[in-house]
Amino acid sequence: MSNRYDIAIVGSGPAGLSAAINAKIRNKNIIIFGSSELSGKLIKAPKIDNYLGLPDITGIQLKDRFQHHVANMGIDITYERINTIYAMGQYFGIAVNEKMYEASAVILATGIEYTKALKGEEEFLGRGVGYCATCDAPLYRGKIVTIIGYNKEAEAEANYVNELAKKTYYIPMYRESLNLNENVEIVRDKVVEISGGNKVEKVILKSKEIVTDGVFVLKDSIAPDKLVPGLIMENGHIKVDMNMKTNIEGCFAAGDCVGKPYQYMKAAGQGQVAALNAVFYIDKN
Ligand SMILES: Cc1cc2nc3c(=O)[nH]c(=O)nc-3n(C[C@H](O)[C@H](O)[C@H](O)COP(=O)(O)OP(=O)(O)OC[C@H]3O[C@@H](n4cnc5c(N)ncnc54)[C@H](O)[C@@H]3O)c2cc1C
Repeated sequence: MSNRYDIAIVGSGPAGLSAAINAKIRNKNIIIFGSSELSGKLIKAPKIDNYLGLPDITGIQLKDRFQHHVANMGIDITYERINTIYAMGQYFGIAVNEKMYEASAVILATGIEYTKALKGEEEFLGRGVGYCATCDAPLYRGKIVTIIGYNKEAEAEANYVNELAKKTYYIPMYRESLNLNENVEIVRDKVVEISGGNKVEKVILKSKEIVTDGVFVLKDSIAPDKLVPGLIMENGHIKVDMNMKTNIEGCFAAGDCVGKPYQYMKAAGQGQVAALNAVFYIDKN
């Protein structure tokens, strides 16, 4: 297959970017998926004192440095969110909605969600709760959909869902102003529980309830074992060895998603180790 990448990197925070530059230096054909702001956590950091060589830098300044570095190396970030990664034995199938990419090795650098799952979120996953609104929106044509959005990117998904759904509610989990189509109903309230019987029936809020057919919970990252079926986790993180290898041959992981401490330099260092071992894996196979 001509279109198969050597290494696909999922995540554009310090772990993913460090993996990308190191794999590129080793002449591998890479693809890196992430967002235009690189990392939501990076741009939120007011002042960073522990990044060696760059004292007293803000998160936005560090993001600009990262962006400049990868661009100078000819690395383009593909602004797509991966829904599922299938381990096919000799390669990985990386799904973005209906589109599929292929790569011989994968590096997971998806970061970690600090917020806990909502009550009912995991229980109703696949029974009315989903993590990818654009993939599953057609299932809700003419129905009522509630989007629980943790970041501004979720707003675009809500606008898309609203083109198909009979009614769309948007519950923002952040304070910034919203950019939503006028007939998306904004509900600023605290989510208590997603509830139902065999499938989702409503979202219970602090001050009222919303009757709904589906709920999309749109966060920065989804649980890695939902992203990669068969991936072994340990205490909420991806289980890796010192070489950043997971239990799946050819699949490596780095950064916050593999465990504490949650820090930039540790993430970048692990991204580098993951990339060099992925290179070794490809050259050997
Ligand atoms: C306010 C704040 C201040 C901080 N200050 C410091 C500090 O001073 N010093 C320090 O060392 N650390 C600090 N940290 C911690 C630091 O931000 C993290 O440790 C670091 O960002 C982890 O890097 P990462 O690459 O593992 O993940 P992240 O930076 O979280 O990046 C993960 C990336 O993966 C993307 N992604 C996830 N899932 C998918 C998918 N399915 N498809 C495509 N892309 C996906 C996300 O959108 C994101 O871009 C701070 C964190 C916060 C929130």
